[in-house]
Amino acid sequence: MRNHDITELRRQDVAHHLPAQANYRLIADMGGSRIITRAEGSTIWDGDGNAILDGMAGLWCVDVGYGRKELAEVAYEQMLELPYYNSFFRTATVPAIALAAKVAGLLGGELQHIFFNSSGSEANDTVFRLVRHYWTLKGRPERRIFISRHNAYHGSTVAGASLGGMAAMHAQGGLPIPGIEHVMQPYAFNEGFGEEAEAFAARAADAVEARILAVGPDNVAAFIGEPVQGAGGVIVPPPGYWPRVEAICRKYGILLVSDEVICGFGRLGRWFGFQHFGYTPDIVAMAKGLSSGYLPISATAVSREIVETLRASDRDFVHGYTYSGHPVSAAVALRNLEIIEREKLVDRVAHDIGPHFARAVASLDDHPLVGETRTCGLLGAIEIVAEKGTNRRFGGAEGAAGPVVRDACIAGGLMVRAIRDSIVMCPPFVITHAEVDRMVAIIRAALDEAALALAALETA
Ligand code: PMP
Repeated sequence: MRNHDITELRRQDVAHHLPAQANYRLIADMGGSRIITRAEGSTIWDGDGNAILDGMAGLWCVDVGYGRKELAEVAYEQMLELPYYNSFFRTATVPAIALAAKVAGLLGGELQHIFFNSSGSEANDTVFRLVRHYWTLKGRPERRIFISRHNAYHGSTVAGASLGGMAAMHAQGGLPIPGIEHVMQPYAFNEGFGEEAEAFAARAADAVEARILAVGPDNVAAFIGEPVQGAGGVIVPPPGYWPRVEAICRKYGILLVSDEVICGFGRLGRWFGFQHFGYTPDIVAMAKGLSSGYLPISATAVSREIVETLRASDRDFVHGYTYSGHPVSAAVALRNLEIIEREKLVDRVAHDIGPHFARAVASLDDHPLVGETRTCGLLGAIEIVAEKGTNRRFGGAEGAAGPVVRDACIAGGLMVRAIRDSIVMCPPFVITHAEVDRMVAIIRAALDEAALALAALETA
């Protein structure tokens, strides 16, 4: 364990560092970020020596848990053998090809070709450019429009944030770029409260069709969606939603893109979210769990028909990154997938820790502040409400209660995220039963502790 001068690091953090997705005034006022110094299993340690149970698997990514020596060793060996080479100009490296074959095998069916990038955002930028290029090659250049959902998250690059449906992101930088349409999300607790699930599923899916008709089916290139919206607040679509969306895409000949950046590689108890929900995408975006976050790498898988269209053209696909198929990242990703297979972690999520997590989170349903709990595999959300049995929020506005409960959780030794007024969870696949029980006990204590402060919001 290395010693760090945390006071000095926090000073330098304010003096020189701009962390991602952050409120810089708040960080300056706090005297610097919380500095995470080490981690093991499902636990992280901060610079003050506090052990914190990581209920978020880093940023929805450290699926195999922290401290995997073999991932460090494989990176070391690959760096000595070939630290870098690109995949431009008809070259490729051994790990990139091996990883492509591995991921294609896991995806199965028509999804047999993989394009590598470094981040989820880039995976979706690749989707954006590839889909428009594909339709041009098909002689249908007017098919340019992407349909996405409000509150979707597809990344932070210009195309990623535009494909996403985050109003706060759109407000910065004049987004979305033209040609992207956002429709309602299948968020029953907020947008279909009290509505019968089947009717809500149909209404949310039909919003996709309505928009296709409004913009003209011949102008639509693709629909993109996360199987479960993660950063939007762990929005689990009701049964029937995805098959209906798929049928709508097929009806109008529109490509279906599954953004599996969070759901891919076992998070929902199957290798991919589209398998869990029973649909067949034409394109799949992946990142995070591909390498469990140990090194940056992402992937965009495309169907055979798309590849045949690309191969029928004598033009280059003029797209790609210096780090597309980075050999060290690819070698680490390959070993990460081997760990998931060897330790049967997808089965563990489906049949062991997932069901335990579901029961543990559901045990919070009796708390007076809890309006709904929901889980899907190892994703979970707890909706905080001012009045049980309703979806009314504290202080009459969304977003006041979530951060209060989150801060109490972190102070209690659990890292979770607040998204508006829900506490969301995404623990590593290796989290133990006892750790899940501890997670839920900390959340219950945090809800109890926050109750007084939140009651004051009601009278304010
Ligand atoms: N798509 C989804 C579904 C995501 O959750 C994320 C990241 N949270 C992204 C894309 C973007 O990935 P990255 O941050 O690696 O660019």
